[in-house]
Amino acid sequence: MDRYAVVGNPVAHSRSPDIHRMFAEQTGESLSYDRILTSVEKFDACVTAFFQSGGLGLNVTLPFKQQAHDLAGELDDAAREAGAVNTLMATPDGLWGGNTDGNGLVRDLTRNHDVALAGLRVLVLGAGGAVHGVIGALLRGGVAEIVIVNRTHDRAVRLARRWSDPRIRAVRSEACVDSFELVINGTSASLRGEVPKIGESVLGSACLCYDMVYASEETAFMTWASSRGARAVDGLGMLVEQAAESFYIWRAVRPRTPPVVQALRALG
Ligand code: NAP
Repeated sequence: MDRYAVVGNPVAHSRSPDIHRMFAEQTGESLSYDRILTSVEKFDACVTAFFQSGGLGLNVTLPFKQQAHDLAGELDDAAREAGAVNTLMATPDGLWGGNTDGNGLVRDLTRNHDVALAGLRVLVLGAGGAVHGVIGALLRGGVAEIVIVNRTHDRAVRLARRWSDPRIRAVRSEACVDSFELVINGTSASLRGEVPKIGESVLGSACLCYDMVYASEETAFMTWASSRGARAVDGLGMLVEQAAESFYIWRAVRPRTPPVVQALRALG
């Protein structure tokens, strides 16, 4: 059977095997998808061994996305921009690396939440790996402006400079007083029940607040936003959409994502 896997540390919590099993059932593709736990020291050897033993594709999660970027001989534009890879594939020319996080977010926003990105004013909270992966896709989606606010301001400044695009700039939290139509929380604050420091004036009318974190219950950021009248959604759709992008890269078949999101919500 064609073999795929997700590699990370920790990896036991990863929902990718469930997602890819559902994609395979839905599309009639015959494949297996496992979890692989490894260490920073063993990551390169582990990936090489997986592909040498006939494995066809890997998803890469924390903390190895940058190492996967450095290991891949060929990169797609998104991986190059982000400096991070979440999808690896063996090709006749060697190891290919892509990053599907940005397209996953954009597909979730546009197809599942009816957001038209063209001309939108966007506030992005955070400047870590996840945000690096989505900026390029948002810019390509035609947003009018991206303001980045991060707890460590210097990281936001460095991130904004990676794109020489006049639509993107870094602003300190206390100086962020404009209002936005889309606010994306790309921090991990919700994992600890915290909300990034930001004034409620950022919430424009009909503002959508998107937390990249997904959970069985409303996240702290979603509660903060919805209690102030904004629409709030979590990042489960992005997780499934970025997985669908990987599945498409590997199998050239595009699975339907809404039933998979629904099934994952039912599993809790
Ligand atoms: P990361 O590289 O570790 O970056 C974490 C970011 O969160 C940094 O900008 C950090 O600020 C900020 N942060 C952490 N705690 C904070 C707090 N209490 N208040 C304000 N800011 C805080 O992590 P990442 O890879 O970017 O991932 C971020 C989140 O996105 C994770 O929770 C991950 O689960 C989620 N994610 C979801 C998907 C999806 O498919 N839905 C995909 C990728 C990631 P500093 O720079 O100041 O430390």
